[in-house]
Amino acid sequence: MKEELDWANLAFGYIPTDYNVRCVYKDGRWGEIEVSSSETINLHIAASSLHYGQEIFEGLKAFRGADGKIRVFRLEENAARIQESARGILMEPIPTGLFAEMVRKVVKLNERFIPPYGSGASLYIRPLEIGISPRIGVKPASEYLFIVMVTPVGPYFKEGFKPTNICIMREYDRVAPRGTGRWKVGGNYAASLTAGEHAHELGYSAVLYLDPKEKKYLDECGPANFIAIKDGKYITPASDSILPSITNKSLQQLALDMGIEVEARHITVEELADIDEAAAVGTAAVASPVAEIHDLDNGNRYIIAKDGQPGPVVTALYHKLRGIQMGEEADVHGWNTIIE
Ligand SMILES: *Cc1c(COP(=O)(O)O)cnc(C)c1O
Repeated sequence: MKEELDWANLAFGYIPTDYNVRCVYKDGRWGEIEVSSSETINLHIAASSLHYGQEIFEGLKAFRGADGKIRVFRLEENAARIQESARGILMEPIPTGLFAEMVRKVVKLNERFIPPYGSGASLYIRPLEIGISPRIGVKPASEYLFIVMVTPVGPYFKEGFKPTNICIMREYDRVAPRGTGRWKVGGNYAASLTAGEHAHELGYSAVLYLDPKEKKYLDECGPANFIAIKDGKYITPASDSILPSITNKSLQQLALDMGIEVEARHITVEELADIDEAAAVGTAAVASPVAEIHDLDNGNRYIIAKDGQPGPVVTALYHKLRGIQMGEEADVHGWNTIIE
């Protein structure tokens, strides 16, 4: 990298960095951590990940703080979640210690790609695990490859923290009622591409999925969790088909800290008429406020942000969480791992 990257204008895309780290599970144990400067892998053509979708991943971020320190947000939570995903589709769980060591290592090795404090950009960390044993019969692999790669990403809100419109389309489900929705598996994303592209073509930022069994309750919001503020309470759907977002979990804690009641429960579509604020929450944006929700099946329109501005509670939660990630606010819950 001869010139500095234009940090504030980076997209959420892939930019090559210097290194990635890898580890192989073979003969019943994890091997040595390998540092690689190659952007490719050599994979058996019959690998279980290629044929039967044995692939899971994570997404977390490293930030350069106000004090110059590097912070990774909720590393242990992400380690625990990828272990859950692994158990969900019969892959080998990555021990927390190995996960943590590899994240530390890859962040440190690519330190020059961590955007400066104040740019709004961050270093996105993408751990992924794939089955690498050749499998033609449908059976879990016995060998796995775990990779942690990183790439710098720009600020999510380039034009400011502005609400967008989302839609309900009953013709699509992201996952099955007792399926893989609660795990971070690549296949869930493949299954959501058609609905997502359709929504984007119609000018919406995401699909607000309904529960796939009864189509009565709110479920996932695109690749993010849905939250709403109603009568001063923080409400979020409880469902077996939702991926438990670590951002959502963190915002719930911050809401409790602010004296706001939190309810994880079924939320009906009709309840949208009575909510005061809404947002899609996840690592990429923290919170992406919702302006309007259009039910494309019956023409109902729920106007959430009446003046086109994000609501006060979502805004306060967003700034609080960002402040903790940047080291501007006290990390009272011990969510940050400092990389030295
Ligand atoms: C990753 C993901 C989220 C957000 O989770 P965070 O831990 O907050 O980043 C939400 N929904 C889906 C489907 C996801 O894959």
